[in-house]
Amino acid sequence: MLKMEDSTISLTSADFEEDRYSRLRLIPWWDQEKLKNSAVMVVGAGAIGNELIKNLALLGIGRIFIFDMDTIEHTNLTRSVLYRAQDVGRYKAEVAAERAMELNPDVKAKAFVSNIIDDVGLGVFAEMDVVLGGLDNREARLAINQSCYKVNRPWIDGAIEALSGFARVFVPGEGACYECTMTEADWMMINKRKSCALLTQEQMAEGKTPTTPTSSSVIAGIQVQEMLKLLHKERGLPTLAGKGFVFNGLTHDSYVVEYQRKPDCMSHDTYDVIKSMPWSVRTMTLGELVGLVKSEQGDRAVVELDREIAASARCTCGREKALFLPVHKLTSDLLACPECGAPMIFDSFHSLNGTEYFLSKTLFEVGIPLMHVVGGRVGIEETIYYEFDGDKEEVFRGC
Ligand SMILES: [Zn+2]
Ligand SMILES: [Zn+2]
Repeated sequence: MLKMEDSTISLTSADFEEDRYSRLRLIPWWDQEKLKNSAVMVVGAGAIGNELIKNLALLGIGRIFIFDMDTIEHTNLTRSVLYRAQDVGRYKAEVAAERAMELNPDVKAKAFVSNIIDDVGLGVFAEMDVVLGGLDNREARLAINQSCYKVNRPWIDGAIEALSGFARVFVPGEGACYECTMTEADWMMINKRKSCALLTQEQMAEGKTPTTPTSSSVIAGIQVQEMLKLLHKERGLPTLAGKGFVFNGLTHDSYVVEYQRKPDCMSHDTYDVIKSMPWSVRTMTLGELVGLVKSEQGDRAVVELDREIAASARCTCGREKALFLPVHKLTSDLLACPECGAPMIFDSFHSLNGTEYFLSKTLFEVGIPLMHVVGGRVGIEETIYYEFDGDKEEVFRGC
């Protein structure tokens, strides 16, 4: 099908795209243009992530953002369609992004070797139409869940073990969220790992779960189909929002489970108003930020960060040490006194009123990620949120 553009008919690359996607367009509700204009985040470029990214590329999702901190190992090659033996040692996210663009030159894919728990600003989540998870740990799922809820974005979780797996869809305001589905045992695992973090970081190494390329393609396929329905939401297609697709690979039975929304769940916080500001986390100092928020909201305004940041540590021997990193990243090594080896006591903050001694530090220097969102409020009045869009060009460069 040829398309008229600027009243001239010519064979542009857009016309060849029509050929590539014409079988997809046979689906009555399909809108290829919408997919082309979509931004989708994939967290985790392992077994599930490979299948997710492959599907997104084939479908012509215009902008794909891939988050993973690991490098490729030989053991990944049995479950990762995007990786080759010569890729061993390279970052998964980088190789996956290259291969996605090879599979379909219409798509742009960008790699982020970042920790999804701390290093990704809420403004990055806000830019996405859907977030897809291919993860193997609960803390990362919980962090994605909270970030997506704050900026009102849907996310789709996938999990596999041996031949089986499940896919779950979480849409703010529509039924249960990920935290609502968490059991007592899930919390015990998280708390165990958290307490371990203060002992040795090495012991935190992920448990190795048996996974296959077959179960990952089944589950990732369901995740991407759910994403397609969410992207076409004006079509009113049924989705798994607040529900899970459970697949038993031994019998090939499957069923859908509906999760209970917990009214006291801590993850349902959605920011009402987020103001887009030309501010940059990279360059703005804490002092400048406090000044700007006070000029917006009055002199009694305080800045609320959404995380607890350790400022400094002090030892009984008198030695002091600057920290400036999220409290949960502290380890016993970091808190050991460089002078006498004793464990040091640290102080921390999550809000700023303009009297702090470290106001000359930039937000980035105290561990706030690029494109983050911070709050400003006066007393118990409603918080107004500010998104740091001055970082946008740096974060999304090339994509
Ligand atoms: Zn919840
Ligand atoms: Zn000491």
